[in-house]
Amino acid sequence: MVWLLLLIVSAGIGLLASSLPSIHSILKALKGGDLYRRWNRLRWLVVGFIMAYAVYGSTRFATVSEPTDLLGSLILLAGGFFVLAVARLSALTTQDLVRIAILERDVVRDPLTGTFNRRYLDTRLDEEISRSRRSGLPLSTLMIDLDHFKGVNDFYGHLVGDQVLRHVSSLIQSQVRLNDIVVRYGGEEFVVITPDSSLEDAARLGHRLLRQLRHHSIDLPNGDTLAVTASIGAATLAEAEGRTTFLRRADDALYEAKRGGRDRLCVAGRLAEESPA
Ligand code: GH3
Ligand code: MG
Ligand code: MG
Repeated sequence: MVWLLLLIVSAGIGLLASSLPSIHSILKALKGGDLYRRWNRLRWLVVGFIMAYAVYGSTRFATVSEPTDLLGSLILLAGGFFVLAVARLSALTTQDLVRIAILERDVVRDPLTGTFNRRYLDTRLDEEISRSRRSGLPLSTLMIDLDHFKGVNDFYGHLVGDQVLRHVSSLIQSQVRLNDIVVRYGGEEFVVITPDSSLEDAARLGHRLLRQLRHHSIDLPNGDTLAVTASIGAATLAEAEGRTTFLRRADDALYEAKRGGRDRLCVAGRLAEESPA
């Protein structure tokens, strides 16, 4: 009977211990935050349970004589099965959720810069246009195109070109508000959607971006530094205007800025270009 008890207690401890790697993999996926703390607490609870089970088993060795004396340890063994099953299932669920989150991110994000992609812009802009119509608050956009970027690629190579794109995108992201939407619209073209912003607000942001670009040169791997400039078109949503016309007006303003000599911002609907800030 003692051998049977030893077997049951060892199996119970083994089952509980086997749930720890699953809990560890959940903790690895969570990395931090409240859920992490709760799972970490559960891990220590399982460790405590293992020790309590061992103590319980050792106190039973002296008294076990009939099959009914094994009942308590059998219930604890079933508890071990339960903990293992829940831990394994939770680990599998976490893995699936992480995979889905990565897929969702990849569907809407540009892999090079981490900004949103054009597919996301299409749906999100329609939503923002409806919201702006309902609330009556303005909605504005900036279309940003790097100047002579082909020359950067041709002179320094594509890898440096990519580095410049990442630099520009993080610079844009550092200047916008939390609810502004930054999109990589094309190769070296970015769109910023700024909800609740007038044309003047958007133009102010655009001028700030131009200044930042001029003053933040990029350190290249060969030791050179490189400053890039951009041209920007700004537009605010007009009454009864859809996404396509809204963006086209911003694009027209951008080309106005290019024609005007680059490194400047033009505002849609106005003929005169605004001078660089
Ligand atoms: P402009 O001032 O008139 O805008 O001239 P530009 O040279 O910036 O414009 P152009 O359209 O002639 O060239 C855009 C270049 O952007 C060409 C292409 O090689 C480069 N490009 C597009 N996508 C990427 C990318 O993902 N990585 C890199 N490194 N280059 C890219
Ligand atoms: Mg360009
Ligand atoms: Mg372009």
